[in-house]
Amino acid sequence: MEPVALRERLRAEALAMGFDVFGVAPVHADVRADYFRQWIADGMHGDMDWLAKNPERRTDATRVLPAARSIIVVGLNYYQPHPPAAYRIAKYALGADYHDVMLRRLKKLCGVMRTLGGDQKPYVDTGPVLEKPLAAEAGLGWQGKSTILLQRGFGTWLFLGVILTTLELEPSPKEPHRCGTCTRCIDACPTAAIVAPYQLDARRCLAYLTIEHDGPIPEEFRRPLGDRVFGCDECLDVCPWNRWAKATQEARFAPRALPALRETLAWTDEQFVEHFRGTPVKRLGLRRWQRNALTVLGNTGTAADLPAIRALLGHVDPMVAEHAVWAERELVARS
Ligand code: SF4
Ligand code: SF4
Repeated sequence: MEPVALRERLRAEALAMGFDVFGVAPVHADVRADYFRQWIADGMHGDMDWLAKNPERRTDATRVLPAARSIIVVGLNYYQPHPPAAYRIAKYALGADYHDVMLRRLKKLCGVMRTLGGDQKPYVDTGPVLEKPLAAEAGLGWQGKSTILLQRGFGTWLFLGVILTTLELEPSPKEPHRCGTCTRCIDACPTAAIVAPYQLDARRCLAYLTIEHDGPIPEEFRRPLGDRVFGCDECLDVCPWNRWAKATQEARFAPRALPALRETLAWTDEQFVEHFRGTPVKRLGLRRWQRNALTVLGNTGTAADLPAIRALLGHVDPMVAEHAVWAERELVARS
């Protein structure tokens, strides 16, 4: 089959499997390798040491699959409004874990590609690939000043999946960059983490600090954290390209119930796992959930939350205990 016909055949398969967007990048796509290396050298990846490992593999697909000829990038829309609640969880994490949903479909697509003679490697988030620049190279959209991938139809709300393949596919036409003079994401960021257009310092980013970071949240970021217990959507919510966002068709992303934060402070590890099983929040673990919840209660709580906060003042984990001290102090000072 000709490279164009093959690409269109696979696009039809991907859309039939429930993906919302599909594109193909050339195997030696420009993934802004120099920028990535400098970002790592500047330490902007924080504790995410895995990002610093094997940069050559991340920036050259043929180091991972030597016979690779093309790179497929697919996107799945996950947008939904946040349910009314006293605190916020990033919208991508409100329901079922996207890794499972995406990987199952990617493997199905790889199965079709195998029957066409291809050898494939699929990745969702965890592989040695730079999804966002690859998605831009595959014509899905462009990387905005917040560094997120923007797509004209779905805005910023796409999960991305990547397949390296030995099949020869015609690359998709690229999308022009459409941020223009807008700086809303930079202006809206509560911690000034977008240090320049297209440059995100993860060490200042609330998504990183509440999800990836293992230690105490540095004090300068605790008040700006506001009511965000897991992740941050601020730079996405303000993006004008989200005006046309549509609700996801994936029922498994429907939000789970959000329990009262003060109740979660008294949870055991088992209760935490039981509640968040199958969602992206589970891998946070109870102690980091408590760290984040205490920070939010320090910012937004009422006197009714004080007994639950005080019960953690002598917690065996010094990080949880210190966050409880901070939360109590903030709350009492506000009362
Ligand atoms: S996720 Fe939040 S903290 Fe991180 S860059 Fe965006 S607005 Fe800033
Ligand atoms: S908010 Fe504006 S500058 Fe930021 S990504 Fe969206 S369009 Fe681009």
